[in-house]
Formats: sequence, C-alpha cells, structure tokens
Amino acid sequence: MTTDLTNIKNNLELRKRVLLQRLSRVKSGMIQEHSADWSEQAQERQNDEVLEAIGNESQHELTQINVALERIESGDYTSCTDCGEDISLKRLEAVPYTHLCINCAE
Ligand SMILES: [Zn+2]
Repeated sequence: MTTDLTNIKNNLELRKRVLLQRLSRVKSGMIQEHSADWSEQAQERQNDEVLEAIGNESQHELTQINVALERIESGDYTSCTDCGEDISLKRLEAVPYTHLCINCAE
C-alpha cells in the first residue's frame, strides 16, 4: 500500500472512531429516563429528535467509511466502480468516500 493510501486509511479510521464515540453518546443520551413534568417531557422529546438526527447522520457516514475501508483492504479503492479507471489520489483525499472517478461522478 502506498503512503498516500495509508494516510487516507488512517484518516478514515480516525473519523470512524469519532463517529462510534458519538453514536454511543447519542444512544446513552436517548435512554435516559424521561421526567414526569409534561413541559420537560416536550423538551426531552425535542432533544431525542436532535439526537436521533445526529445518530442517523453519523450512522450514514459510518457506513460510507466502512465501505471505503473495505475497498482499501480489497485493493479496489482506487478504481472507479463505474468505468474501472483509476480515481485520482487528489480526488480520494478530497472525497475519501467516493467510488466514482471524476468523469463518472459528473
Ligand atoms: Zn469512472
């Protein structure tokens, strides 16, 4: 594996750890007991919705990271899934989750 790919992989793994931590915080935030006060309940429900949105977003990004990491492992990371051409390293550094070359993405 080239140094550049190793760097991208390290960045992806770092990001993955951040997301996993965030997801576990979101989960523990959501299972807190709700208070009996109805106005506080409304506030808590709103918080839950915000947490859920953050959770969904993080989950989505995590899936993309896992796909990218699998592609790095299998050696397919730098080839476009559409046309099979190489995806430029510059593009992968800028958009590490991409599986399309610049031509196919456009
Ligand atoms: Zn392509």
